[in-house]
Amino acid sequence: MELLKETILKKGKVLSGDVLKVGSFLNNQIDVKLLSAMADDVFAHFKDKKVTKVLTVEASGIAFACFIAERFSCDAVFAKKSMTTNVDGETFCADCYSFTHKTANKLIVPKEYLSEKDVVLVADDFLANGQAVNALISIIKDAGAELCGVAIAIEKGFQCGGDALRNRGVDIYSLAVIDEMNAGGIKFRA
Ligand code: 5GP
Repeated sequence: MELLKETILKKGKVLSGDVLKVGSFLNNQIDVKLLSAMADDVFAHFKDKKVTKVLTVEASGIAFACFIAERFSCDAVFAKKSMTTNVDGETFCADCYSFTHKTANKLIVPKEYLSEKDVVLVADDFLANGQAVNALISIIKDAGAELCGVAIAIEKGFQCGGDALRNRGVDIYSLAVIDEMNAGGIKFRA
């Protein structure tokens, strides 16, 4: 998506450890016009799917997931990274190693928010090694729900997650795929 790529080039910062900082428009401050346009693009790709839930991970996937869910007139659900006092009842859980925090987490979704009746679109801000998306897919499987695809804002194509999922037949729709990034610049996949 050209507008997202332009924004990444203008406002993104390449940090050490293959991390792209996008705090000024996606992760910390939200450019709502940009996210709205991103949701339109995702909707155009998945519009024939009868999406009933958009599933993401707290915290940085939530804004993107909410804009997409609004297009499908459905709810967005986010997995929590720790049990909190406001989670009660049974939960679906999956292990996930966090790329940015370098910690092992459990992703947790209360069973009341996902069922075998759901057609689920996974959404996240980044796809790197695929840990987060794989954990969400495992939760969807445990719920007996149907996975209809994965929408990603920024895929780092030089890491293995996206291509491994495509090889398994998952419909991964990434709005910008970065094939190379370093202090000298960012190159997108054509
Ligand atoms: P994965 O699980 O695919 O290895 O990493 C994806 C998760 O890590 C996303 O949920 C995202 O929050 C975080 N992440 C991975 N790479 C980056 C990055 O370069 N920048 C930022 N801001 N977050 C990232």
